[in-house]
Amino acid sequence: MKILNAILGATALAAASLVSVAAIAQTYPERTITMIVPFAAGGPTDTVARLVAESMSNDLGQQVIVENVGGAGGTLGAARVASADADGYTILLHHIGMATSATLYRKLPYDTLNAFEYVGLVTDVPMTIVTRKDLEPTDLKGLIEYAKANKDTVTVANAGIGAASHLCGMLFMSAIETPLVTVPYKGTGPAMTDLLGGQVDIMCDQTTNTTKQIQGGTIKAYAVTSPERLDVLKDVPTAAEGGLADFQVGIWHGVYAPKGTPADAMARLTKSLQVALKDENVAARFAELGTEPSPENDATSDALKAKLESEIARWKPVIEAAGQYAD
Ligand code: ASP
Repeated sequence: MKILNAILGATALAAASLVSVAAIAQTYPERTITMIVPFAAGGPTDTVARLVAESMSNDLGQQVIVENVGGAGGTLGAARVASADADGYTILLHHIGMATSATLYRKLPYDTLNAFEYVGLVTDVPMTIVTRKDLEPTDLKGLIEYAKANKDTVTVANAGIGAASHLCGMLFMSAIETPLVTVPYKGTGPAMTDLLGGQVDIMCDQTTNTTKQIQGGTIKAYAVTSPERLDVLKDVPTAAEGGLADFQVGIWHGVYAPKGTPADAMARLTKSLQVALKDENVAARFAELGTEPSPENDATSDALKAKLESEIARWKPVIEAAGQYAD
């Protein structure tokens, strides 16, 4: 009898937990989801996040609101998500900085490979080397000569150590074998304001922040970091055309959740991301900004996990060779 009771009890428990899993699966999300962007509002990561969040909101039937937690090259926002409740209501949209910060920072407040669940990849955005409008050089070769000749005064804006702009700036300085004066911001949104105002000279930033300004002639573009020229910036040569062979960098973005987020919520988030990336409006806006949505098989947990792991391994030796660390 005791055994029978135990079996009955266990069955009842199992049934109850099945019911609760089914209930969660049917009801998630029941309230607003916060998508943390680890950079300031108005910048390229923010732009990508807001387009995706709006479309995910439509699909999920709940608002996905973007909260900007900028600073320390994206690591403050990532830390916020790493320590958030793992309930599916806090997620992170971050880029390549998730991988580079793992080596750039001697100590991070989170364990990059063990603190997150993976929703999927979002997009891979080319970078552009741009300057304030009135800088004299007319091509990349001229810009390099100018930077070398004025290395103590030429300023390069970035969004802090770990940011894509930091990585690209670091690659640029290493390619021209000249360290320049760097100016960190909480994101390249505010950095762009200073570039427009002429307070900083150079920036390497995603096309999602620079395309409209380049097209409008409010900043000067010297190169794109994609292997080919971009349809939306036909007149801007590739870095290789401009004389910097091998200077190619794509800023991949992914969506994460805190470790331990329930599997059903993760599956729903991935599904919703895939819907957003097929949204014609998202694709059209991405195209205007020089990028495109990741294909569906990349907007998966496995693809993002594999990307993060391979990118940590890819950038580690480059960063170690440059000897640039932050504490
Ligand atoms: N583009 C920035 C970076 O350098 C981030 C941002 O402001 O969105 O990583």
